[in-house]
Amino acid sequence: MLNFTVGPVMSDENVRAIGAEQVPYFRTPEFSEIMIENEALMKKFAKAGDDARVVFITGSGTASMEATVMNVFDQNDKVLVVNGGSFGHRFVELCEIHDIPYEEIKLNVGKALKKEQLDVYSGKGFTGFLVNVHETSTGVYYNIDMISEFCKKNGIFLVVDAISSFLADDFNMKELGAQVMITGAQKALACPPGISVIVLSHEAVERIEGHSVKCMYFDLKSALKNGERGQTPFTPAVGILRQINARLKAIDTAGGVETETRKIAELAQDFREKIKGLPFEIVSESMSNAVTPLHPLNVSAYDVFMKLKEEYGIWVCPNGGELKDSVFRVGHIGALTKDDNTTLVNAFKDLQIRGLL
Ligand SMILES: *Cc1c(COP(=O)(O)O)cnc(C)c1O
Repeated sequence: MLNFTVGPVMSDENVRAIGAEQVPYFRTPEFSEIMIENEALMKKFAKAGDDARVVFITGSGTASMEATVMNVFDQNDKVLVVNGGSFGHRFVELCEIHDIPYEEIKLNVGKALKKEQLDVYSGKGFTGFLVNVHETSTGVYYNIDMISEFCKKNGIFLVVDAISSFLADDFNMKELGAQVMITGAQKALACPPGISVIVLSHEAVERIEGHSVKCMYFDLKSALKNGERGQTPFTPAVGILRQINARLKAIDTAGGVETETRKIAELAQDFREKIKGLPFEIVSESMSNAVTPLHPLNVSAYDVFMKLKEEYGIWVCPNGGELKDSVFRVGHIGALTKDDNTTLVNAFKDLQIRGLL
């Protein structure tokens, strides 16, 4: 299997070997140590600062999106949501479900957020901002510096879903003044799905302490309290947390977050070079290093996905809904190499010879 989807992605041998081990009991000093190390490395890689905290939620990325919305906002807030695709729409739905007053900035497929669009909302009393810095569904990467500046100017609490962008694109939580950053195990962390991660600034922790949440599992106060001793309120996905630990330590040893991001950036660049001349159009105004969204000019995108899967054993990421036949995405995260890019590009060339691209 050669997997170019955007998650779950391929894990390296080290991470997979841990997956084959027995899962240990976790109310132990040994597991606490792993969790404390996980928290420290997440803070380091997110550049969150010493006073930040990290919560590990057993659940996919959406669980952490929901926990965040529930714990940091309430009916007295007024939240601005960037909705440029299915993940932006998810934040809108979460505000609806949890009765958080909001307005959305709706963007057309493939379009970046522009300063003029944002400036309209300046001085309008917004208290919160929700954005998926990389809208993975369309492959659009937003200008986070511009968003950060807008939030700083207006004193707005900034929440960044960086689930598919963390490790793939530069991110400096402290400098950006982002109060919350969310990521997940199955994207560039390249572990199995089942854990998502919420990095919280000191201000975010204070906000959580001041809110009461009508939910047991997603009450972050209790997660923060337990986290002080390297524990979680309930049984977490122990095995995945051990895999995350190995992965974070490997990144640290290899040179840290900058080295990892450069590796992903180089893979993306290599792929984008190699597809030049093939009948594709790149459909995003502004891309993350994590993903290249492609529109095949002559055939259905879904048919290309199916042919690659069935006849070449290669997985790219199909799109759903309206984009099903026009766009598929190629990921550059996970245990992939430039040779793997060549294998995929050769499959494209073969499809072209067969008149299927
Ligand atoms: C993958 C992803 C999520 C999380 O989706 P889950 O299926 O719940 O893990 C959320 N936001 C973005 C931008 C993503 O790429």
